[in-house]
Amino acid sequence: MNRLTFLGTGTSQGVPLIGCRCPVCTSQDPKDKRLRTSALIQTPEVTVLIDAGPDFRYQMLRAEVQRIDAILLTHYHRDHIAGLDEVRSFNYFQQRAIPVYANKETIQAVHAFLPYAFGKHRYPGAPLFDLHQVRKRPFHIGDLTIRPIEVLHYDPKAMLNGEMKVNAYRMGDFTYITDAKVIAPASIDKIRGTKTLVVNALRHEPHPTHFSISEALQLIDEIKPERAYIVHTGHALGYAQTQGELPPNVQMAYDGLTIEF
Ligand SMILES: [Zn+2]
Ligand SMILES: [Zn+2]
Ligand SMILES: [Zn+2]
Repeated sequence: MNRLTFLGTGTSQGVPLIGCRCPVCTSQDPKDKRLRTSALIQTPEVTVLIDAGPDFRYQMLRAEVQRIDAILLTHYHRDHIAGLDEVRSFNYFQQRAIPVYANKETIQAVHAFLPYAFGKHRYPGAPLFDLHQVRKRPFHIGDLTIRPIEVLHYDPKAMLNGEMKVNAYRMGDFTYITDAKVIAPASIDKIRGTKTLVVNALRHEPHPTHFSISEALQLIDEIKPERAYIVHTGHALGYAQTQGELPPNVQMAYDGLTIEF
């Protein structure tokens, strides 16, 4: 059995938002306290992290993570990569570079974000990464076979900003999708057969770069997983109320929730 722990389930600003006094940001429900979206996967052989955002350090401490065999990055927004420098602790205790898997654009962004970690002017004591560019093919980390699935952060026809590719990752009948707005039919086909689905939704109202709840439910309806978990949620979605409105096989994920797949 593999285990997934939701280390963070909030949108890019987290919940509560700095300075906000709305009912969700001031809620006493611990399930309304969301760090930036990230997940920890533990198999009999390996520990793999999906994304390393600005809450990385606290997430590692809170979940008592003692080693990491690899980090899978979904895309290069700061809420998914800002914590990468903190792998220094794992470099030290594991005496090795930490393998990082990402698409081409994200690898370029990691170089630009942490210039002191690469090249001939590498700063002594900088984090050590073993960067692997993910293409279309599946790859292996220990006993995990990981299939990358390309999704888009926004509709290039609507935004005219080119496109931003995001990697979703499938492992057996489990698929993890965050920061999706558009999923092409070829990628939908790669998600079919998923029994446990993690998918992002920001709020009820449509948003140009993230699924709304109804768009996430549309995907869930098409894929028909046994269970689905909503992540990357904003402060418009309170846990208790939103959970009450969701179909029985769909759950609002919350920080610290652990599932098996
Ligand atoms: Zn994000
Ligand atoms: Zn708020
Ligand atoms: Zn993003």
